[in-house]
Amino acid sequence: MAEVLVLAEHTGGQGKKGTLELLTLARQFGEPAVAWAGPGAEDGQGRLAEFGAARVYVADGADVTDYVTAPEAELLAALVRDKSPAAVLLAATGQNKEVAGRLAVKTNSGVLADAVGLGARDGKIVAEQPVFGGATIVHSAVRQGTPIITVRANSIAPDPAPSAATIEPVQVRLDDAAKGAKLTGRVVQERGERPGLTEAAIVVSGGRGVGSAEGFELIEKLADELGAAVGASRAVTDAGWYPHIFQVGQTGQTVSPQLYMAIGISGAIQHRAGMQTSKAILAVNKDPEAPMFELADFGVVGDLFQVVPQLIEEIGKRTQS
Ligand SMILES: Cc1cc2nc3c(=O)[nH]c(=O)nc-3n(C[C@H](O)[C@H](O)[C@H](O)COP(=O)(O)OP(=O)(O)OC[C@H]3O[C@@H](n4cnc5c(N)ncnc54)[C@H](O)[C@@H]3O)c2cc1C
Repeated sequence: MAEVLVLAEHTGGQGKKGTLELLTLARQFGEPAVAWAGPGAEDGQGRLAEFGAARVYVADGADVTDYVTAPEAELLAALVRDKSPAAVLLAATGQNKEVAGRLAVKTNSGVLADAVGLGARDGKIVAEQPVFGGATIVHSAVRQGTPIITVRANSIAPDPAPSAATIEPVQVRLDDAAKGAKLTGRVVQERGERPGLTEAAIVVSGGRGVGSAEGFELIEKLADELGAAVGASRAVTDAGWYPHIFQVGQTGQTVSPQLYMAIGISGAIQHRAGMQTSKAILAVNKDPEAPMFELADFGVVGDLFQVVPQLIEEIGKRTQS
């Protein structure tokens, strides 16, 4: 059975949840194997094995840790040449789109970006991709070389399937062209207890309806009650009520959680572009005509300052019992 390569996203020696999702997807099309660039693979090995990785190909050393994007592309290109995998799967991050592009050029292959699901047809892997801001779903397959597919977070729930995850070192040497930009330092982003916006299973987003930065605290409270990430509409970030990095939409982040809660958000097309592939959508809005209700699976027409505190209280009761 051919391998399906998954590029590991990792911090502090632990594969991120997105990598476990990709391993779960990879199992449908071949034997999952992980490409790990940088240190820490021995620490992450156990968890990768738990989710089905048969092998972990590891490239480490200064050529890998001191440069941006090129090491991952070089590692994957070497593996595509040596192992002829059925596909290469990467998390749909900004950096990985560049890795995927470089890999495609190196291996004369096709790239499919931002898949939200994978299937098979006529012996090919078929990616499901939202286009035109999510208004249309297309199904695409790569016709040349090895399919290189970037997959959005939360496209599948990680499912354990124990395997061996044996570690195999791979040598990566960068040519001078790949050393055009060198990493000069790393800063660890301060993060609270909340999950990352693009990885979270539940996202609670607030819109202009919250009325102020203080009003937005209610959104944070609901998110914390659910162990969710916090998102915001552009009206909120433009008003300075919440930082821009939390903006969801066409000019913000794209999220695809199991549950998206849109609180006091009208549902403008530019906001929907960033969240409409969410598995379930709940809207709270005092205007029954708000466009968000067209998209929502569940809707509450009401004042968010009355609805959300009741929701928090009810969730609190259930989590305590
Ligand atoms: C090029 C471009 C890019 C853009 N990119 C983005 C983007 O990435 N993300 C994004 O979000 N927007 C983006 N926008 C802006 C977008 O068009 C909307 O203006 C924006 O999404 C509106 O945010 P909102 O829904 O919070 O505010 P509004 O449209 O003002 O809606 C507020 C909603 O809250 C409801 N409400 C008010 N008070 C209450 C209450 N007490 N209880 C319950 N409901 C209440 C109202 O009924 C209303 O539906 C972009 C626009 C352009 C032109």
